[in-house]
Amino acid sequence: MPNAESLAAASKPAGADADEATRNNLLRALRPDDLARIAPRLQSWAADAGTVIYEPGDDVRFVYFPAGAMLVSFVVLLDDGRGVETGLIGREGAVGGIVSQGRLPAYSRAVVQFPGSGLRMLSSDLEAAKLESLTLRNLFARYADCMMAQIFQAVACNAAHSIEQRAAKWLVAAIERTGDHDVPLTQEQLASMLGVGRSYISRVIQSLKLRGVLEVRRGRMRVRDIALLNALACSCNDLVRHHFEEVLRGVYPTEQESAGLKDEDGFEAARMAS
Ligand SMILES: [Zn+2]
Repeated sequence: MPNAESLAAASKPAGADADEATRNNLLRALRPDDLARIAPRLQSWAADAGTVIYEPGDDVRFVYFPAGAMLVSFVVLLDDGRGVETGLIGREGAVGGIVSQGRLPAYSRAVVQFPGSGLRMLSSDLEAAKLESLTLRNLFARYADCMMAQIFQAVACNAAHSIEQRAAKWLVAAIERTGDHDVPLTQEQLASMLGVGRSYISRVIQSLKLRGVLEVRRGRMRVRDIALLNALACSCNDLVRHHFEEVLRGVYPTEQESAGLKDEDGFEAARMAS
């Protein structure tokens, strides 16, 4: 499994240009002077599916900004060895020390679900920039609030909603961020992320197949009826999106915006490599 060392090897030391930074919606939401302040410290970063960014207890040295169609999961490891997803971060956000301001060890595993490229910077550099700019600090505080809302909603969702609702919600959340109805995920991976047994997810997937919602091919799922998938999903994504719209308008990805990602350089190559 790739690890933080291979991440470092994949990173370029030079500062990123502003165009590259705007592939992450949170960075795009910065005021131009705030983006200019941190752009020299941003590094390009690329990772394959399965790359572990942090393990619990690791020092949080970098803040990672997924860009384009890249997706990163927060996974909490249980004492029986299972790992359950508690948050999904795409280009609307950042991974690493957002709430702790980079000063505390990682609590959960952060792992790349969908490969791609993004940006990263030393958390100490980001903290220094926040001290210089109140507007930069405010934007990250607002994002921390949105991320907390997302985690709160995930707790309620895991406790109250059915496996079918949660599976549909996960697929909708992924498609919103990638714009691609082809989801490179096996049933085992989906079961593991949702913290449910393989037999439960098999039944759910079979039922979705029978209703023409999706098909499964060669370890991937292809969504055929996004409207029905949306109708089957619980409203948890919608509630989180609504909070983002209140607090950080324009940052939460939409499927329409994501549809343009297929034209981006490297997007198809990254997807094919997954
Ligand atoms: Zn839910």
